[in-house]
Amino acid sequence: SKWLFSHAFKIIEQIESNRFQAFIVGGAVRDYLLNRPISDIDIATDALPADIMKIFDKVIPTGIKHGTVLVRSQQLSFEITTFRKESGYQDHRHPDSVTFVSDIEEDLSRRDFTMNALAMARNFKVIDPFGGESDIKAQIIRMVGNPNHRLQEDPLRMMRAVRFSSQLGFAVDPITLKAIQKNALLLEHIAVERIAVEWEKLLTGSYMRKGLQLLLETGIHSHLPLLSEHVEVQNQLKKLKVPFPSMTAFIAWAHLLKRNTPISAWSRKWKLSNQQKKDANLLVKVFDILYDENQWKWAVYLLPERLISSFVAVYTSFTKQPITMEKIIDIKRNLPINSRAQLDINGKDVMKCFPERSKGPWIQKNLERVEQAVVNGEIENDSKKISEWILNERF
Ligand code: ATP
Ligand code: MG
Repeated sequence: SKWLFSHAFKIIEQIESNRFQAFIVGGAVRDYLLNRPISDIDIATDALPADIMKIFDKVIPTGIKHGTVLVRSQQLSFEITTFRKESGYQDHRHPDSVTFVSDIEEDLSRRDFTMNALAMARNFKVIDPFGGESDIKAQIIRMVGNPNHRLQEDPLRMMRAVRFSSQLGFAVDPITLKAIQKNALLLEHIAVERIAVEWEKLLTGSYMRKGLQLLLETGIHSHLPLLSEHVEVQNQLKKLKVPFPSMTAFIAWAHLLKRNTPISAWSRKWKLSNQQKKDANLLVKVFDILYDENQWKWAVYLLPERLISSFVAVYTSFTKQPITMEKIIDIKRNLPINSRAQLDINGKDVMKCFPERSKGPWIQKNLERVEQAVVNGEIENDSKKISEWILNERF
């Protein structure tokens, strides 16, 4: 990340040589001071998007109206935003107007928390008008300005407070906390997609238990999609021991707690993608195969690699039986096949076993049975042996 910073400083230097100001701002400065890994770097400047487009070759106009463009440099992207202030927020959602300003401090004053209202110049000097550095040292999440007012402007900030607590292990300043408790209901004005982003970060945070405790303490949980209707699920949140690696894991877990609320209902309320919905269903299917039938090989076979960590988290929250990523990966490595395509027979071969039958769903059914039997080691993956087995079983 040192390397990322020096790269950002080069970009800043280029902006400055055109007689504008520019700083690294927000989360990157916070994470730098915390010695945490830095994912992306935001730059703030008094140059307008049109100026930036003149200065750099590769500029993508991602949000001109809000003053934001993306500068590409050596495979890296830097979001460059003109200093701005926001006003209005009649609908608790979008500022009625965005006004460009010439002063970095004014730009910092629109930001949510003191730890995020920091800027860093090219010489590593930190601009910190709201005491963000000392709050970082004291591990406190504190709203910039009047918390009540700032939360009414944008209620998503409540979710952000909780998710930062989950990621950083920080406490929320008492005045900010009170304001969250008072305004929690306003979260219902917020687009669920925005809430989902923060919710997923909360669930995956290293201090997830702290974040969830704060969620319950502030009453935010009573205003989250569908969760608000399921007190039992809310109560179980307290008992979670390990972070959930994904939203999908959460949805699968919630459904397993209350089977009569289908995954489709959770997915609809949280506006999940079809892929997420599919993954959640698969997690539940694999859970049942392992939990009810103890079929390790078949369960692991059905579980794609990208879902292993989610599965371990969900499974662990329901049982004391030890299960680890390593164990699953080990089983996966030793499976006789990894996909149906690797079977030593196909649909045509199945048909040849029963020349008297005409085409139909029975072919698929046989293939499924064969697949499961081969995975479980009941038959060898050998066309001859499989054909004998099919003729014997007569599905
Ligand atoms: P992360 O590491 O998760 O990206 P971040 O602090 O960079 O954390 P972003 O959501 O990327 O968070 O936002 C970048 C910056 O924009 C924040 O640091 C903060 O200064 C400001 N910001 C983002 N969302 C809000 C908001 N809802 N209200 C006020 N300021 C915000
Ligand atoms: Mg960020």
